[in-house]
Amino acid sequence: MGERENLVIIGSGPAGYTAAIYAARANLSPLLITGFQRGGIPGGQLMTTTHVENYPGFPDGVLGPDLMDLMKAQAERWGTQLLEADADVIDLAQRPFTIEADGQTIHTQSIIIATGASANRLGVPNEDRFWSNGISACAICDGATPQFRNEDLAVVGGGDSACEEAVYLTKYGSKVHLLVRSGHLRASAAMADRVEANPQITVHWNTEVIDVQGTDWMDGLRLRQRDTGKEELLPVRGMFYAIGHTPNTELFKDQLDCDQSGYLITQPGRPETSLEGVFAAGDVADAEWRQGITAAGSGCQAALAAERWLSHHDLATLVSRDAVEPQKAKPPETTDVTTEGTYDSSAQWQKGSYALRKLYHDAKKPLLVIYSSPSCGPCHVLKPQLKRVLSELDGQAQGIEIDIEADQEIAEQAGVNGTPTVQLFFNKSLQQQWRGVKQRSEFRGAIEALLKEH
Ligand SMILES: Cc1cc2nc3c(=O)[nH]c(=O)nc-3n(C[C@H](O)[C@H](O)[C@H](O)COP(=O)(O)OP(=O)(O)OC[C@H]3O[C@@H](n4cnc5c(N)ncnc54)[C@H](O)[C@@H]3O)c2cc1C
Repeated sequence: MGERENLVIIGSGPAGYTAAIYAARANLSPLLITGFQRGGIPGGQLMTTTHVENYPGFPDGVLGPDLMDLMKAQAERWGTQLLEADADVIDLAQRPFTIEADGQTIHTQSIIIATGASANRLGVPNEDRFWSNGISACAICDGATPQFRNEDLAVVGGGDSACEEAVYLTKYGSKVHLLVRSGHLRASAAMADRVEANPQITVHWNTEVIDVQGTDWMDGLRLRQRDTGKEELLPVRGMFYAIGHTPNTELFKDQLDCDQSGYLITQPGRPETSLEGVFAAGDVADAEWRQGITAAGSGCQAALAAERWLSHHDLATLVSRDAVEPQKAKPPETTDVTTEGTYDSSAQWQKGSYALRKLYHDAKKPLLVIYSSPSCGPCHVLKPQLKRVLSELDGQAQGIEIDIEADQEIAEQAGVNGTPTVQLFFNKSLQQQWRGVKQRSEFRGAIEALLKEH
């Protein structure tokens, strides 16, 4: 990182990575702060979906996490510096602007805000109690968990996401109830047709959720008919939210012009915000189109505009390249399932139930187990983090990856109710469990504490 950056891009969705590709190719050596927890995970919203069928260039579709891996690799290949952290404080009062992230203070001449949007919650009274114990905001991430298999499930919402999730969940649940507040679907006609033609989906019109009930795990929803006021209990074991998004503008809302819903206001059809040198791209400034390709397109515009602005004011320090053509991007790492033949009692990272059973009994070191599913984007983010923790600990702990689709029985025995779940074992006993994406320091701290104690 330089003393003063030319350009900092905040956010690593399609808008952020596209801006980074353009800015890096313009020799601006941009710094991209990927985000981590505050407003979504690195890679953004497409990390929470499976097949993206409408992104040009992929005639057979592409998995959301794979698409984002490719964008990341392209941005890195051209010289983008990545900081895997959240931006915590942004001060736009004077130039150079100041950003606090990961305990560091970063000064920059210009900024592209590409912080996207976050999924909304209903806020019903027992929401926190049953969050991850039946309630989820990501059907694609959690649908495959054993507790939802062959059970009745509900999806809340009436747009494209809700319809997509309802159809997706019929793969796992016995029946899916789509709970729609109004009397019609806001989804595209093609998506609405798929829902209406699916015999496993029942649509409940004019219906709102009042609360969730259950003991350890949710077992029902209290619903109210909005037209008649009639209340009823719907026995379901899962509820998935698909009720829209809120733009991630909390850090800027008193410093830049935003509309009533919190979206950044830019010049019409352009990326300039209300402050010179600050540009916006993607869903954070777009309440209308909100697509991967529109976000990518606006990321391109923002980078070109930032480049022109920097050069007009003679503020950019360009980097020079050793080679005209950078090295080819590395393919993503994959791990094969460990078998009796490939099992290695001292390996740092292995995969599957065979390795888990063996190491659970034999390991003398702390054992970190991540339960993931193939379509889970957050798992995609977390696995390299865990591998990094283990390699920083230099062989003092080991890791295992369990695909809960392939090893359902193991997931059930371990009481795993969503992905990613990470469990830390020592001497055959469970020491700690985490759900969702957490900072590396949490895992490292827990392992180090165990090593110190024993
Ligand atoms: C389930 C689902 C399915 C979808 N399917 C499709 C599809 O098939 N095709 C399609 O075109 N679109 C699809 N979309 C829409 C698409 O994902 C979005 O339009 C697109 O991701 C927006 O890109 P973005 O770059 O603006 O923001 P996002 O993808 O939202 O990324 C925002 C980024 O900003 C980061 N961030 C937030 N706050 C901070 C902070 N304080 N500091 C640093 N970083 C921060 C986040 O970590 C994230 O990396 C889907 C969306 C969802 C939710």
